[in-house]
Amino acid sequence: MKGKLLIIGFGPGSYDHITERAKQAFQESDCIVGYKTYVELIQGLITDQKIISTGMSEEVSRAQAAVKLAEEGQTVAVISSGDAGVYGMSGLVYEVLVERGWKESTGVTVEVIPGISAINSCASLLGAPVMHDACTISLSDHLTPWKLIEKRIQAAAEADFVIAFYNPKSGRRTRQIVEAQRILLQHRSPETPVGLVKSAYREREEVIITNLAEMLNHDIGMLTTVIVGNSQTFLYDDNKLITPRGYQRKYTLNTEKQRLKPHERLRKENEPWALQDEEEEALPIASTDKKAVAMDSLALATEALSLVAGEQAEPVLETQHRSNRMESILEFGVSPGIVNKKFTSKQLLTLAEIVGDDGEMEYTPHHYIKVSLSTATPEVITSRLEREGFLLLPAGDVLQIKACDFCDGEKHDSIPYVEQLQEELGGMSLPKELKLGFNGCGMACYGGVQEDIGIVFRKGKFDLFLGGKPLSRTAHSAQPVMEGVEPEDLVNLVTAVIEEYKEKGHPNERFFKFFKRVQSVQGFKHKDMAPVIELEPAPCGD
Ligand code: SAH
Repeated sequence: MKGKLLIIGFGPGSYDHITERAKQAFQESDCIVGYKTYVELIQGLITDQKIISTGMSEEVSRAQAAVKLAEEGQTVAVISSGDAGVYGMSGLVYEVLVERGWKESTGVTVEVIPGISAINSCASLLGAPVMHDACTISLSDHLTPWKLIEKRIQAAAEADFVIAFYNPKSGRRTRQIVEAQRILLQHRSPETPVGLVKSAYREREEVIITNLAEMLNHDIGMLTTVIVGNSQTFLYDDNKLITPRGYQRKYTLNTEKQRLKPHERLRKENEPWALQDEEEEALPIASTDKKAVAMDSLALATEALSLVAGEQAEPVLETQHRSNRMESILEFGVSPGIVNKKFTSKQLLTLAEIVGDDGEMEYTPHHYIKVSLSTATPEVITSRLEREGFLLLPAGDVLQIKACDFCDGEKHDSIPYVEQLQEELGGMSLPKELKLGFNGCGMACYGGVQEDIGIVFRKGKFDLFLGGKPLSRTAHSAQPVMEGVEPEDLVNLVTAVIEEYKEKGHPNERFFKFFKRVQSVQGFKHKDMAPVIELEPAPCGD
C-alpha cells in the first residue's frame, strides 16, 4: 500500500487561522511529524495519531523520518508553522524524496497544504505594511551562508522592497539583526517604520511599532518577525504601518490654497513625503521625509548663499540627485501672471534649465505652458520657479482664470477684481475643470464669453455670462445672465456661483451641463444656448 505525505502549514498558531483542508488532513493522518513546540500548538486537533516530535534544528532528520514512514505505507502529517513552503518542511521533504529517486506516478503521494505565513499574519496585525513589492529574508545562517544573506539584504534594501525578516535572532545568533540594520540604514531613512511582531495569533502575542534607528532597543527573539517598510511606508495614528499600493506617479499642487506657496501646497495625504508645516508635525510623515527635506533645505540654502555672493548658483537639478527620494512626475501650468502675458528671457531660460531634455513643455490654448517633469524634490522646482516670478497652476479639475491683457495694462480699472478672484478662487478643486474668462472691456477679445463663466467689464460695471460650452461641434457661448454687476458685488457673486457648482455638481459634470440640469444657479435661470440644428453624431462624441 502506498503511503502519503501531507505537508501542512498550520498558520500562525490560532485554530481560527488554520485552513479547513489542514484540519481534515490531521484527521486523515496516522502519525504527525514535527517540531515539539509546533506539535503542542496543534494539540487540540490531534486525536489518536502517533507523534514523532524532534528538536528545532533537526528538520533534516524529521524530513527523512517522515519519508521513511510514508514509504512504509503510513499517512504522515509533516507540520510547519505558517506555510510549509516558507522556511518550512516542504522543501526538505522534497529534497529527501528527490535523493531517493521519487516519482509522483510511482512513489508515495505528496500533498502540500498551504498555510498563512508569518509575513501575512504579522502584517495583518500591523496595518498594511506589505502591500507592495516585498520579500522575506531569513536571518538564520543555520542552512544558508551569511555572505549570501548579507547580499540579499543589500539587494532588497537597495531595491526598496518591504522586507519581512524571519528568524531574526536567537539566544546564540544575535549579530545578524544588527548587521541587517546597518545595511538597511545605508539605503533607508532611520525613521523608516518597522513592526516587530512576536507570537502573532498565539498566547503571548506582542506588537511593537518602532523605526529603523530604534528597532534594536526592543525585544526581538526567535518568535519575532521584523517587518521593515519601504521608502513609502508611513505610520498612521501611532500604530498602523501603511505602505501605499504604488508609488505616487504624480505630485499635485494642492488646489485649495492658492495663497500658500506651491511647495506648501503639496498634499500630505497624496504625497506623504511633502514638506510639513510645523504645527502639523503630528500628521503622518513618511520615513524618508525628514532626511530628504533636510537635504533640500540645504540645497536651497547653498543656492541662496551663492546667489548673494554673486557666484554662479549650483543648479538645483544637480542637488536633487543627492536626495534619495523616489522620482515622480510633477505636472503643473506656468504663466507669467494672471494679467501679465509676457515672459522674460530670464524666466524662459530658468524654465528651460529646469525642464531639461527629459521634461516636457506643452503650449496650450489656455494661457499657460504645461510642464511635466520627473523629480524627487518638487518643492525645490516650484520654489525656484516662484522666485522667478512665474504663476504656478495646478493641473486637473480646478478653477482656472483666463484674463485678457487689459490692452497691455492700459485698461486697468478692473484688474484688481480679477486679481482678487485669482487670489481667492484660482486653483480651487471642482467637479470638473472650470474656466473663468475675464475681459477688461466690451470687446471681450480674449473670448471670455465662450468660457464656463464669463465676466466682461463695461462702463465701470460687470456683465456676467454663465454656462459656455467652448468645445465640440455643439459649442456655444455662455448665457448673459446679468448686466451691470456693481464692482463691490462681483467677487461675492462669482464665488457664490462657483461654490454652488462645487457643492451640487456631479463628479465630472462640466459647468454648462450642471447649469442645464439644475436650471437655476444663484437665481439665474437657465436658457438653452445650444445650436438648434440637428447634427450627425460624430464618431468621437459631439
Ligand atoms: N514556515 C513559517 C516560518 C518558519 S521560520 C511561516 O511561513 O511563517 C520561523 C520564523 O517564522 C520565526 O523566527 C518568526 O520570524 C516567524 N514566525 C513564525 N510564526 C510566527 C508568529 N506566529 N508570529 C511571529 N513570527 C512568526
